[in-house]
Amino acid sequence: MSHFFIPNHVFTGEDALQQALPYMKQLGEKALIVTGPHVGKSPMVEKLREGLEEINIAYKQFDEISTEPDDTMIQKGVAIYQKEKAQFVIGIGGGSPLDAAKAIAAMSVLGGEIADYMGKEIEGEIPGIVAIPTTAGTGSEATRFTVITDSKKDVKMLLKGDKLIPDIAVLCGENTHDMSRKVTAMTGMDALTHAVEAYTSRCASPLTDVYAKSAVKRIMKYLPIAYQNGYNAKAREQMTLAAYEAGVCINNSSVTLVHGMSRPIGALFHVPHGMSNAMLLDACLNWAMDGATMRFARLGEEIGLKEESDEKLAQAFLAQIKELVLLLQIPTPKEYGIKQEDWEAVIDKMATDAIASGSPANTRKEITKEDCIKIYQSLYDL
Ligand SMILES: [Zn+2]
Repeated sequence: MSHFFIPNHVFTGEDALQQALPYMKQLGEKALIVTGPHVGKSPMVEKLREGLEEINIAYKQFDEISTEPDDTMIQKGVAIYQKEKAQFVIGIGGGSPLDAAKAIAAMSVLGGEIADYMGKEIEGEIPGIVAIPTTAGTGSEATRFTVITDSKKDVKMLLKGDKLIPDIAVLCGENTHDMSRKVTAMTGMDALTHAVEAYTSRCASPLTDVYAKSAVKRIMKYLPIAYQNGYNAKAREQMTLAAYEAGVCINNSSVTLVHGMSRPIGALFHVPHGMSNAMLLDACLNWAMDGATMRFARLGEEIGLKEESDEKLAQAFLAQIKELVLLLQIPTPKEYGIKQEDWEAVIDKMATDAIASGSPANTRKEITKEDCIKIYQSLYDL
């Protein structure tokens, strides 16, 4: 039995924001706009503010969310939310402002500190949440998760709860046109990782399979185009849809080995999330393949590959992924600038942390700490 949960209202296409505004009105009369300093000054936020004014929703803008939202930013946001007597939040930006908006909404009513809720299910009457992504990757607009850094301990806290799923998601490809090539590559690979992991996870279900296959098909076709030409409207639109679909996948299935092994790289070397996933993708999927050959083969079929056996199809699919990694110029840890001795010194710890996260256990093949060590070594040709 699987529980399948998605946002209440999802708007797509060029006029997604216009369509969504009357539904925002149902969430309250005053919004807190949560964003970053750059997007906060962009025409996208200008358009949002104009739209809110047109339908008489008052607002206050909080644009101090950086790439890694931490508890002090959230506390500040909550204080503004309460002082302004806002009634719902609108997160606009990449994954960080979206995650921050969820945490501000939750902490505005929960009390205590964010750390108190780490690992627990967040419950209660949380204010409405609107998510407007301006990158195509994290899928935060579709998930019941938010990641906030504990600034005192320098650890990332994962908060979860069905109440954190946005009530409204606004998916407009045009909002993502300004992403740099690097961000396009990293976020796109994050979405691809979500979809492939969810499809080959032990937690996959018939409905997540539908979303996962669709996301993989869109990403394999349109990520190279979006990377090469950021102003290709069709490619941006398709990637925005794919990132949402892949978000639905991780929300209702799970991530597996790649994310499990990626988080320690991010924590120790501050490699952006999508990039550390992309560094690992080829090695991890090759390791996992014989545990789920049929599933990898179906993904191969989905992107139009033809081979005489499932094994060959699965291999051909992985070859396509490897090609994409090369095309997007994803660096190895060495190329990223991580020194060999620094990498070697923490391999044991990274493998321990990866296994402890629980994500690798969702892979359809028994995995041990030693397997993780070998994969980490292979990334550095050790
Ligand atoms: Zn991810």
